[in-house]
Amino acid sequence: MTKTVDVSQETAAILDKLGVARSAWTGGDMASFSPVSGEEIARLKTVSAAETATAIEAAHAAFKEWRLVPAPKRGELIRLLGEELRAAKEDLGRLVSIEAGKITSEGLGEVQEMIDICDFAVGLSRQLYGLTIATERPGHRMMETWHPLGVVGIISAFNFPVAVWSWNAALAIVCGNPVVWKPSEKTPLTALASQAIFERALARFGAAPKNLSQVLIGDRTIGEALVDHPKVALVSATGSTRMGKEVGPRLAKRFARSILELGGNNAGIVCPSADLDMALRAIAFGAMGTAGQRCTTLRRLFVHESVYDELVPRLKKAYASVSVGNPLETSALVGPLVDKLAFDGMQKALAAAKAEGGNVSGGERVAEAGKETAYYVKPAIVEMPKQAGPVLEETFAPILYVMKYSDFDAVLEDHNAVGAGLSSSIFTLNMQESERFLAADGSDCGIANVNIGTSGAEIGGAFGGEKETGGGRESGSDAWRAYMRRATNTVNYSKALPLAQGVTFDI
Ligand code: NAD
Repeated sequence: MTKTVDVSQETAAILDKLGVARSAWTGGDMASFSPVSGEEIARLKTVSAAETATAIEAAHAAFKEWRLVPAPKRGELIRLLGEELRAAKEDLGRLVSIEAGKITSEGLGEVQEMIDICDFAVGLSRQLYGLTIATERPGHRMMETWHPLGVVGIISAFNFPVAVWSWNAALAIVCGNPVVWKPSEKTPLTALASQAIFERALARFGAAPKNLSQVLIGDRTIGEALVDHPKVALVSATGSTRMGKEVGPRLAKRFARSILELGGNNAGIVCPSADLDMALRAIAFGAMGTAGQRCTTLRRLFVHESVYDELVPRLKKAYASVSVGNPLETSALVGPLVDKLAFDGMQKALAAAKAEGGNVSGGERVAEAGKETAYYVKPAIVEMPKQAGPVLEETFAPILYVMKYSDFDAVLEDHNAVGAGLSSSIFTLNMQESERFLAADGSDCGIANVNIGTSGAEIGGAFGGEKETGGGRESGSDAWRAYMRRATNTVNYSKALPLAQGVTFDI
């Protein structure tokens, strides 16, 4: 039985419950739509360039205070944020489904990721340590100290509307930095909701400076203003490679730091010894999950000729049977594309694949009664004679290109022969193949997995990719270092002044 959901009404109820003022999302100049129904659900007020500059100045003032608060105390604020997120999980997860079109478990999963990074950051707040280093000079001590960096600008994409903010904000804040967030213009409401949740944590925390976290609603011009402002020390920008190609050089021009988390064109290799049942499930989730709109979505699949005729028909069967539909009303596994532009991009790529000799199954629009401006599609699986044309590019939609291979060295070459370098997988029970895939001459991606899919990373590891994916790392491991500045300190506690490298300078 399906229930009918009034998307606008439910949006309003959630925003009210989470404490987002109506004035922030009604009567403004920027319309916001739900991909679930295609309808307008809010009108937000955008900020001007002058307001952006004022917000950055205010964040800089907050920095001067916050950097002096002991890190474990800063961690306490993030602990409270984690508690508030736990309390708001159902509502915020639902809002992610409304605004980004994710199925229920993925909407909730995104909020869980926010909670997980808060837990991680709380522990980290007592572990921001540097090294002590052996010095060549007697009576000296050499060490590293890590200091807060400054205002952190966050630019985020529509497809992880809240998790990306939390990966950056939780770490930035325990590292002593305020954040200024420019969310995607396609998902501003979840940003306002996250900010409201943060403010609840802030109220419980008490003594924190004003403007520790701010949200700037607007289009890319607001992102550009963040990128160009001299008081923004680091910009963490998540989005397309096109965006990164614009943002990266602008930041480099003023020697600002960047974390660039850009597009992916992720591949999997299925070897002769692979556990095909396991591979099938991993491929299906990796390629069709989130309607192919994850940066880590599986887009290219190389299957060994000895298992091709067994695996590919099973995959096609899974594609033909997958449920596509309204994520608020049904338990469908595949929700909508974000908008018409995404649908057009998908159709264009499929036409180009056909022109390259591709054999396309799926890809057609799925009608949803009464939702003519929502774009639901059957995920497409395309058998390609070789890796060419659209296979070399990221199309942000559920298209899986499948290619047959016979030689392991050659398939590794093909695997790495694309611009992006985010995520990768191999399915094999052969240790020589799996180790080779993870070796220096194996996968060239920032994420290389064995017997699991390309998507669904945990927050404990550093997340990001190489080449046109931008080279940034966020989340776990030592990604925190990007949010701090390192000072090398040498202390002389002797009564002499020996110079390094044996240099003499006696005056
Ligand atoms: P997008 O590039 O269109 O927009 C992303 C953000 O950048 C938005 O907030 C946008 O306003 C802003 N922006 C665009 N041009 C800008 C400019 N010149 N200066 C400053 N800001 C600018 O991306 P999208 O369609 O929202 O998201 C999909 C893309 O994001 C895909 O390519 C996907 O692979 C990528 N993505 C990457 C990761 C990752 O971690 N590597 C994660 C999620 C999404």
